[in-house]
Amino acid sequence: MARSGRSRRPARADAGAGAGPGPEAGPTFGELLEAAGLVEQTARATRHVIDQSNAAALAHAGRTGAAVSCLDCTAPKACCTLTTSAYLHEAIPIAARLRREGRDTPALRDALRAAAHRMETTPASRYQAPCVFLDDGERCTVYEERPSVCGTHLVSSPAAACSDPTVASIVKLVGTLQDRAPPEIDAQLTMRAGLRPLDRSYRGALPRMVLLCLEAWPRRDYVSFLGERVLAAAHRFAAATR
Ligand code: SF4
Ligand code: SF4
Repeated sequence: MARSGRSRRPARADAGAGAGPGPEAGPTFGELLEAAGLVEQTARATRHVIDQSNAAALAHAGRTGAAVSCLDCTAPKACCTLTTSAYLHEAIPIAARLRREGRDTPALRDALRAAAHRMETTPASRYQAPCVFLDDGERCTVYEERPSVCGTHLVSSPAAACSDPTVASIVKLVGTLQDRAPPEIDAQLTMRAGLRPLDRSYRGALPRMVLLCLEAWPRRDYVSFLGERVLAAAHRFAAATR
């Protein structure tokens, strides 16, 4: 019962799966997100997770005297060369920004596709490649919209250690919200956007989730498109990060 109650779209909405914008009269994914205010709301939700989680980590550092090396890090951003996950709700503000700034180009999509494939087929322990969004000056070009896993990644070991292969362990400062809040936001988005409930979160490799979001944006069959593509991508990502 809950399943049918969560579906905003009639059965015919799935009829054009894989065939691009279908003949149905419903909104595109982008139209739905903008009409429901979901671009700004998802962005705000992730910023809140990052702020709250980091406040807790910083308070912990204050109590224990641990350094927070990320605050004034000028080292090469080794943390931006790792396997990186993102929820669909985190990819939405990134995709919106890329579109707004005219950065949704065929070259960017090719780069996202290649990075996603690499991330989904390389064991996370061996993965090392600069993030598509890292620029030549080691700066994140989607910083304000970065996913929570990036924003809450703080370390207390020296910054230089992050890119030193001879250092055995990096000491992380773990925030409290990272495990709980993003799955809750994912469930809310699934319901509000009428997405197909999956047996897991709408979550996968960061470049894949951004790419799927960009591809879904002009589609009216986004329910079936995202349900099928994200589920397959989530399985590939789970295998790589197992
Ligand atoms: S994780 Fe390491 S490389 Fe990344 S910002 Fe923090 S100190 Fe710098
Ligand atoms: S999204 Fe930004 S912070 Fe996250 S890995 Fe990429 S460049 Fe780094």
